[in-house]
Amino acid sequence: MTKRIAIYDTTLRDGAQGEGISFSSAAKLRLAKRLDEFGVDYIEGGYAASNPKDMAFFQDIKKAKLTHARVAAFGSTRRANTLVTEDVGTKALIEADTSVVTIFGKSWRFHVKEVLRVSEDENRRMISDTVRFLKRHKKEVIYDAEHFFDGYKDSSEHALSTLKAAKEAGADMLVLCDTNGGTLPYDVHTMTQEVVKAFGSSVGIHTHNDSELAVANSIAAVCAGAVHVQGTINGYGERCGNANLCSIIPGLILKLGCDCLKKGSLKMLTDVSLFVDEMANVRPNPKAAYVGESAFAHKAGMHVDAIRKATQSFEHIEPESVGNERRILVSELSGASNVFLKAIEMGVSLDKSSPEVKEILRELERLEKNGYEFEAAEGSFKMLIQKVLKAHKPFFDLEGFRVIVEKRHKDEPCISEATIKLIVKGETELTVGEGDGPVDALNSALRQALTRFYPGINEVFLTDYRVRILDPEEATAAKTRVLIESSDGAKTWGTVGVSGNIIEASWEALVDSVEYKLFLDEEKKKKRSK
Ligand SMILES: [Zn+2]
Repeated sequence: MTKRIAIYDTTLRDGAQGEGISFSSAAKLRLAKRLDEFGVDYIEGGYAASNPKDMAFFQDIKKAKLTHARVAAFGSTRRANTLVTEDVGTKALIEADTSVVTIFGKSWRFHVKEVLRVSEDENRRMISDTVRFLKRHKKEVIYDAEHFFDGYKDSSEHALSTLKAAKEAGADMLVLCDTNGGTLPYDVHTMTQEVVKAFGSSVGIHTHNDSELAVANSIAAVCAGAVHVQGTINGYGERCGNANLCSIIPGLILKLGCDCLKKGSLKMLTDVSLFVDEMANVRPNPKAAYVGESAFAHKAGMHVDAIRKATQSFEHIEPESVGNERRILVSELSGASNVFLKAIEMGVSLDKSSPEVKEILRELERLEKNGYEFEAAEGSFKMLIQKVLKAHKPFFDLEGFRVIVEKRHKDEPCISEATIKLIVKGETELTVGEGDGPVDALNSALRQALTRFYPGINEVFLTDYRVRILDPEEATAAKTRVLIESSDGAKTWGTVGVSGNIIEASWEALVDSVEYKLFLDEEKKKKRSK
């Protein structure tokens, strides 16, 4: 029988402890809904008590009508030497009005003695009183055993006695926490096995990534019998982060054959990862396992050839299974296979051993020697193929341009103005554009000149502009490489230009960007009229 593993997401609570991560109330609601669609079993909404924003979330989420996930409120065991019925924190956990409550308690004698400063007996009473009280209020109670592995190493007898207190008071799940993130997978496996032996199968795992082992430790715990995994999307969390659910979930499903989430929702993984980054305003990590942009990117020619024959030759899973995609990178390492695959992507059929493929490779090599780089400039690469295949028809001809940058007063910003003269479809166009900088002004003048002939050009906007100085040892003789990223809302593409003059390099990248857009529009028109 396949093993069911419950996924407990704490992106909104532990994840939000990460440096630079903060979610607005509206973002928290949207995230919870998305996580519910994705099929996680639990969503930890935040701290009851400490935070009015979190309490408001518990109110709002009730109206959201989640279809699958249960919302958990988070808090601690009652304070020392206080009646649980009079404990403010415990009261707030009830007020949060969630069906699930997660509380953490101390497993490590060092913390009991030095941090809580209570007796071991009182610590166990704090655990059992709180669990029993919550059970009396009909809550599903998840008990997070803080510092469990450190506590177990110090005294297994003591650590296990705290779990016993929680279990006997009625806790539904005992979650072993590697709070400081310093435990190694072998130890996690052995200790989890001991706990499962002693308390049965309602055991979970919560790890942190301080040794870059949070994912490995979570998987080790599942292999030892844990059935509940806590983590965050993209591994957000304080210090080095929490266990990354985006790596754990596909590992559990695809490699261990476990049953997680809803049927078929693993394909949403990459989108969920990007969505959470977007909500947190974090730049996605291209190197992220499974979901990163580079996770299935192939560069070396030989690998690409093998991938074409059999994808498993250099891919551990099918990218589609996690909603990601294979990318073929164009670079000086590329052989005929990359060009071939890229051409197929563009709808051009080429024979791998054809003279055209060889010519494209020669041209690529020549340009790369001159400082061009096509990995992030697919638009330019595709225009290059068009040119070699003699399929390229220029959409306009440049007669000339002039760019002026003027500073009228030391306290005023510079003004830039560009004049362009083009021949478009036999007509001469002379336009003037203004902008924040010379490239912006040039871009504006170019667009004005073309808009009458190609209205589609109005949809394009520049989303990124990067400049790299090449061979800096040659000082002012150095070349400049400009990478421009453009978008028309539906598609994004990169283009590149290289020159000793930054304006010239920018112009080259701009022209490729515009021509690529016009090329795409024409292809679309051709398809429609077919
Ligand atoms: Zn944690």
